[in-house]
Amino acid sequence: VIVVGAGVGGLTLAQGLSGAGIDVVVYEKDDGPLGRLQGIAIHMDERGRSALQANLPADHAAMAEATMGGPREQALQIAEVDGELAVVGSRSSDGSAGGVRPGRQASRPVLRAILLHGLEDSVRFGAELVGYELEGDGTVTARFADGRTDSADVLVGAEGVGSPVRRQYVPQAPVIDTGKRMLMGATPLRAVDPALMEMIGPRSSATVQVDGAMRMALGPLLFEEAPVAARDRLLPALDSPAVSEAEDYLMWAVPASADAVTDDRSPEAVWQVARKLATDLAPTVRSVVNEAWPELTYAHRIGMIPKQPPWPASPVTLIGDAIHLAPGFGANLAMQDAERLAESLAAYAAGEQELLAAIAAYEETMRRDGYPPPPTAPDGKAPGGRGEEAEDVVRQ
Ligand SMILES: Cc1cc2nc3c(=O)[nH]c(=O)nc-3n(C[C@H](O)[C@H](O)[C@H](O)COP(=O)(O)OP(=O)(O)OC[C@H]3O[C@@H](n4cnc5c(N)ncnc54)[C@H](O)[C@@H]3O)c2cc1C
Repeated sequence: VIVVGAGVGGLTLAQGLSGAGIDVVVYEKDDGPLGRLQGIAIHMDERGRSALQANLPADHAAMAEATMGGPREQALQIAEVDGELAVVGSRSSDGSAGGVRPGRQASRPVLRAILLHGLEDSVRFGAELVGYELEGDGTVTARFADGRTDSADVLVGAEGVGSPVRRQYVPQAPVIDTGKRMLMGATPLRAVDPALMEMIGPRSSATVQVDGAMRMALGPLLFEEAPVAARDRLLPALDSPAVSEAEDYLMWAVPASADAVTDDRSPEAVWQVARKLATDLAPTVRSVVNEAWPELTYAHRIGMIPKQPPWPASPVTLIGDAIHLAPGFGANLAMQDAERLAESLAAYAAGEQELLAAIAAYEETMRRDGYPPPPTAPDGKAPGGRGEEAEDVVRQ
């Protein structure tokens, strides 16, 4: 199997296939294992956690669980009341109507290091897929920007929203830009005003409201077990700066319009825009942005891919953001796809199913569950338009 893209979906799939004894090679366009910047935390609900348990070796899955934050309990709303910041509302994160799926925060760099561990010989960095050919003998040939080719029985597009595999295979599926942006960053917890952290607590997220508008979302990640201690206990061979340098942090998101973000989308430039947008917020909130790690700031374009009618199965398929998008839970969907596709391909490898039937079975579940409606707000209205996407990404 050729997997295109070493993101959360592609690596979870590769781990599952490798565990099932299936030959897998992952081609990743980025140059090295640290990967591109795409947010620093993932709210991991039962879909992502189930995929970790199913696809990863037990010690990897145990390390991933050990290094998450505690379960999210509630989403707070905070606002200035008589010049003082105060909690003015809350929503439970227990999965009840209007809330979000219960889950825990995972650090994206730590998770990525765990997912890559053991796949070192199967991942080829610096390999950008540009297209593929379906061959007469039923195999697929992948073509890369540097002229390289490789063939396999199955090609999986797991290369995220810009997917060349999707563009060639499902060319009618557009990516629709909603015009909304989210400026995302993270601040070491040691640099956050302790009074603010006391108000939010370690297991809640919070949105900062000004005149009824959501101006910032905040989500702490306090590791349940220090990543270095978990590594020494569970995966001592895992040698990665993502683990040795990990520390507790507060993630933040500032909603912005497309025109607020300049052409310069470098982390420093985006951080400066976020600082500007936060200038009228309470000093303790504003300082969260000012004290951030500038190099981790990221402007996220919010897009969507409409659900496509079924297509006949072939040796080419897609998982994750390459075929469906969800700002706050896309990683969980990508990992759910990875778990299901690995299971289907293992059934084929075991002689229990024909290849195309196995891929068709996976794609049916992907189309069914990959396009869930967004969570409804407690007032029954669909979220959106007041910055809820930012809240969605930090997750309750
Ligand atoms: C700031 C932010 C916060 C988020 N928070 C959450 C959250 O809390 N919970 C959640 O569930 N989701 C969250 N998401 C969404 C989540 O990050 C994505 O849905 C998820 O990463 C999708 O995984 P993927 O494996 O499909 O694709 P990606 O993670 O995008 O990985 C694709 C990989 O393919 C590589 N690639 C791209 N093109 C090529 C090519 N041509 N050839 C080879 N390789 C290629 C890329 O370099 C990348 O490594 C968040 C997203 C952002 C931006």
